[in-house]
Amino acid sequence: MKVKRGLLIGRMQPVHNGHVEIIKKIFNLVDELIIGIGSGQISHEINNPFTAGERVLMLQNTLKETEIPSDSYYIIPIVDINNNSLWATHVESLIPEFNVVFSGNPLVKRLFKENNYDVKTPPLFDRTNLSGRKIRNKMVKGKNWQSCLPESVVKIIKEIDGINRLKEINKKEINE
Ligand code: NAP
Repeated sequence: MKVKRGLLIGRMQPVHNGHVEIIKKIFNLVDELIIGIGSGQISHEINNPFTAGERVLMLQNTLKETEIPSDSYYIIPIVDINNNSLWATHVESLIPEFNVVFSGNPLVKRLFKENNYDVKTPPLFDRTNLSGRKIRNKMVKGKNWQSCLPESVVKIIKEIDGINRLKEINKKEINE
């Protein structure tokens, strides 16, 4: 029988405990999962502080510590293109074949539906605390961000001096 392979795309800036819970739940529905790291070309911005490579490492190190078998997922950066109508085809050209797409983003859902994919919206987990925007905000303000992230992600952010990166890119330019 054909492998049921899903696709989940997210910027994951940074990978947080909510993403891990979504991934675990999706594995109840698929044999394999492709995790596309969205906006792979963007980093060092307040809403997109981490590079694609850093985000791949965050996810790889985190998933290694779960019971999900390492040969059942593929973590692939996806760069944006300046053409929404071609985007789903662009994604298809970069990753293995898949039969179902998981997304809560209305544009992503629409674009894959137009390419005839089965699209499902996974439930979000503890959205009050586990949201990329809220976590980046905590990082800038020196609040407790660590409890929202898997330990391996906290370790990577410390290794790359991620908090100072965020704080520095958040500073307004001083002209004089
Ligand atoms: P996103 O911009 O990463 O996330 C949008 C919001 O949805 C975030 O607040 C995110 O939370 C939240 N979210 C995450 N998982 C969710 C879920 N399962 N249900 C509901 N909301 C969820 O967008 P994305 O949909 O996760 O990723 C889409 C990627 O595709 C982006 O990188 C986008 O640039 C790319 N894209 C590109 C094109 C093009 O190049 N033309 C077209 C369409 C999409 P967290 O921040 O907590 O994760």
